[in-house]
Amino acid sequence: AIEMSTLNLAERLARPELLNLEPYQSARRIGGRGDIWINANESPFNRTELARLNRYPECQPPELIEAYSKYSKVPAANIVCGRGADEAIELLIRAFCVPGRDSIAIFGPTYGMYSISAKTFNVGVNALSLTEDYALPADVSGVKGCKLVFICNPNNPTGTVLSVERIEQVLQQLPEQLVVVDEAYIEFCPEYSVANLLASYPNLVILRTLSKAFALAGARCGFLMANTDVINIIMLVIAPYPVPLPVSTLAVNALSDAGISNMLADVELLKAQGKRLGDALTELGANVVPSGANFLLAYFDDVATVSNGLKEAGIVARAYRDPRLVDAIRFSFTNEAETNQIIAVLRNILN
Ligand code: PMP
Repeated sequence: AIEMSTLNLAERLARPELLNLEPYQSARRIGGRGDIWINANESPFNRTELARLNRYPECQPPELIEAYSKYSKVPAANIVCGRGADEAIELLIRAFCVPGRDSIAIFGPTYGMYSISAKTFNVGVNALSLTEDYALPADVSGVKGCKLVFICNPNNPTGTVLSVERIEQVLQQLPEQLVVVDEAYIEFCPEYSVANLLASYPNLVILRTLSKAFALAGARCGFLMANTDVINIIMLVIAPYPVPLPVSTLAVNALSDAGISNMLADVELLKAQGKRLGDALTELGANVVPSGANFLLAYFDDVATVSNGLKEAGIVARAYRDPRLVDAIRFSFTNEAETNQIIAVLRNILN
């Protein structure tokens, strides 16, 4: 039997069978030095312009981890990269939740993949509600017993933000659970990040992505940041080579000084267009939810008319079936020309 008292928090929460697992020895994990590599059934012929594309990549490309560490100011030892934040959600559920027994907690309305991912592994979902104005409830004791507590900040699809102080309180209230703060949109409100709390809270996990502000949704690259005890458990379940070589090359480039200044300029541009869109919607009588992200949620008296009007104009926005969102439409911010068109179409529908 495993002696529970000698285990760290991540080990206590992990699926017990993982603790004795010998992880797959991928081609790059096997230590070794030499000039002739015949250990992984790779081809010796590189048929592309990309150096070493005939070889398996590193499981965790050091230059990518270093670049994200520099950008996020989180030590490299606390970062794992993978195929988007979506893969990180799935890895957390696979690593920590026993199918048929454990549950995750979510505060809805929120991003759909937490519960979908849980359900695909027969893991329960304790769906709690955000308050009327989309804040965390004062009493979070309803999440007790859940291995993972997902908090999305800024929250998708409401765009609303939670204060760092409130998240820190939750971290203190739930010391024996992992609090997963999904910061997919944090570049649009960086002052709300809890990355600087990682060193103080072994129960904090942060998710990040290059899909949003960094404009690389097609590359599929995201990050999980946590205490090294959590990272060690995640490394037991992660795929041998989650980040393709061309993806890490693109990602490193996006995280260079030039890439980061492009990102920051895009963020400002999108926020300005989002402000224009929000003002226009308010002027047209919609109820616009204040947003810290690159999208906004707007409630309409007659949402069907707006939905149909947008559809007819060839504008694809997102509607929801959640009872709290049936009267709302989520609009992603976009460039000036498209924002002009969207505002013109909305004026046409609502005036
Ligand atoms: N978290 C949130 C809150 C999101 O909105 C999204 C993307 N829709 C993701 C995670 C997934 O991002 P990725 O593209 O990195 O998988």
